[in-house]
Amino acid sequence: MKEMKQLYSRRAYLLKKICSTKSFLRGSYVVLARPCTNPNCQKCKEGTKHPTPYHSISKNGKTQLTYVPKNGQQELKQMVENYKKLSAWIEELSDINLQLLLQKSRRRKA
Ligand SMILES: [Zn+2]
Repeated sequence: MKEMKQLYSRRAYLLKKICSTKSFLRGSYVVLARPCTNPNCQKCKEGTKHPTPYHSISKNGKTQLTYVPKNGQQELKQMVENYKKLSAWIEELSDINLQLLLQKSRRRKA
């Protein structure tokens, strides 16, 4: 088991990283082939359709799709990536908190 000092130090580091990550989004970036409104569109007639970007998120077992304009796609990808990092940091922080709790309670007993 790691020293408490190390754990506190790692916890402070993770908290700092979490607090500085302001832009994040749960879900994923997906591209779906969608038909357009032009009745004479060759791509749609051939069935290839149009690649259309969405933010996809599962809520209460239902998938919710939100169209994201081209100018927002890069930021969307970054936000989704940030959410994954945050989740991993929070998971690690949670483990650290358990270790700290155990070490503190053992010390109290002694
Ligand atoms: Zn079309």
